[in-house]
Amino acid sequence: MGGGIAGVTAARRLRALAPKAEILIFEQEPQLYYLRPGLIDLLAGEKKPAELTPFDRNWYESHGISFRPSAQVVELDPGRHTLTLSGGEKMSYAGLILATGADAFRPPVPGASLPGTLTLRSLQDALEIRERAQGARAALVLGGGWLGLETARALRAWKLEVTVVERAPWLLPRQLDRAGGEVLATQLNKLGIEVITGTSCQELRGDGEVREAILTGGRRLPVQLVVIAAGIRPRLGLARQAGLAVNRGVVVDDWLATSAEGVYACGDVAEWQGKVFGIVPAAREQGQIAAANVVEPGSARYRGTVVKNRLKVAGVELVCLGDTQPEGGPGEEHRYASPQEGVYRKLVLRGGKLVGAIVMGDLSGLGEVERLISAGEEVGGELKRLLTGRLG
Ligand SMILES: Cc1cc2nc3c(=O)[nH]c(=O)nc-3n(C[C@H](O)[C@H](O)[C@H](O)COP(=O)(O)OP(=O)(O)OC[C@H]3O[C@@H](n4cnc5c(N)ncnc54)[C@H](O)[C@@H]3O)c2cc1C
Repeated sequence: MGGGIAGVTAARRLRALAPKAEILIFEQEPQLYYLRPGLIDLLAGEKKPAELTPFDRNWYESHGISFRPSAQVVELDPGRHTLTLSGGEKMSYAGLILATGADAFRPPVPGASLPGTLTLRSLQDALEIRERAQGARAALVLGGGWLGLETARALRAWKLEVTVVERAPWLLPRQLDRAGGEVLATQLNKLGIEVITGTSCQELRGDGEVREAILTGGRRLPVQLVVIAAGIRPRLGLARQAGLAVNRGVVVDDWLATSAEGVYACGDVAEWQGKVFGIVPAAREQGQIAAANVVEPGSARYRGTVVKNRLKVAGVELVCLGDTQPEGGPGEEHRYASPQEGVYRKLVLRGGKLVGAIVMGDLSGLGEVERLISAGEEVGGELKRLLTGRLG
C-alpha cells in the first residue's frame, strides 16, 4: 500500500513475476501516481500536474493493477492477514508491501502553524505554495538541504526575494563539506538567493498570516511565504498500530521483510541497516526487491543504494555521489577548487578505491567517477585527471 514510486515499482515487478496475481494499490491521495521530484518544476510553473503522471487509468487496467486513489489504510492485522480502509472496508491479503513513504518534518518553531507557512511533499502542497508565491514579495525557505535549495530555485522563478536559512554552518551539510558549501552559497547569491547559514528561525509572526521571521541573532525578515524543508519523517502510524518493529523507519532486513511474517516494506518508510535513504533510486530498487520476495521469499537480497544527488539551481550543477565525508572521516580526501568559476571537486578514497565524490560547476569526467564508485575499482594513476575533470 502507498501509490508512490516504491509502491508502483513493486506492483509492476509483481505483475512481471506473477502474471496471474491480483494486485491492488491503496493510495490515500485523491490522484493517480505522480513523479514527486517533478513537484519542483510544477512549483516553478514549468510543468502542469498532468505532465507528472506517467500512467493513466488505461495503463493500470491493461496491466491488471487496480490503483485505488482516496483509499487510506487505517488498520493492519498481520496475524489475520487483513487490512482496513478508512471507509470501514476490510480486505484480506496473501502478501503485503508497506510503501507509505514519509511526511515532511515540521520543527517546533513558534508560529509555524500560521497560514502561509507550508511544507512540500504532495501535489496539493505544491499547488498551494505556488498560489501563495504569486501573491507574495518575499519568501523564506527554512533548510538548506537539497529540497530547500530546489524550492528556493523554484520560488525565484516567480521573482520573489528568496532567503534560505540553514542551521548548520554550511549548505547541504549532509553531502557537502564546508569549502563546497561556500562555493555553492556564492553561486546562489549571484542568482539573487540570499543564504544565511549557522542560523535558525526562532519565531514566525503575523496577524492571521505569516508576515515576519525572527532569526537567532535578532534579524527580522519581512515575509509572506515560508516553506519549511527540514527533512522527512517516515510514516510509522500503521506499522506501530500493527506491532511491527520500528526505529526511525519501519525496520527491515536484507530481504526487506519487516518483523511481521508476510509484510515487507520499501521506500522512504523503510529503515535498512539504520538508514532511511529518502531518495528515488532507493525507493525503486527496494520496491523491486520487496516484490520479488513476496512472490518467492528469500529470492532477492538488498545490498544498499549508492546515494547520488544531483542539483541544478539555474546554472549551478552539483552532483554528490556515495560517501562524501562532509565532516571528514576515515577516507583519504583530495580536493580541487576554483571558486571564481564556481568549480569544486572532492574525491574520497578508501584503500585506493573511490567511495565518494562531490562534483560542482564542471561535470566533465563525471561518468568515469560514477563508474569507478559503482565498480569498486582502484583509481591508480587516474586521480589527477579525475580531480580536475580534464582529459589527458
Ligand atoms: C518536492 C520533492 C522533490 C524531490 N526530488 C527528489 C529528487 O530529485 N531525487 C530523488 O532521488 N528524490 C527526490 N525526492 C524524494 C523522493 O520523492 C522520495 O524519496 C520518494 O518519493 C519516495 O517514494 P515512496 O514511494 O517511498 O514514498 P512516497 O513518494 O511518499 O509515496 C508514498 C505514498 O503512500 C501514500 N500513503 C501514505 N500512507 C498511506 C495510507 N495509510 N494508506 C494509503 N496510502 C498511504 C502517500 O499518500 C504517498 O502517495 C523529492 C521529494 C520531494 C517532496
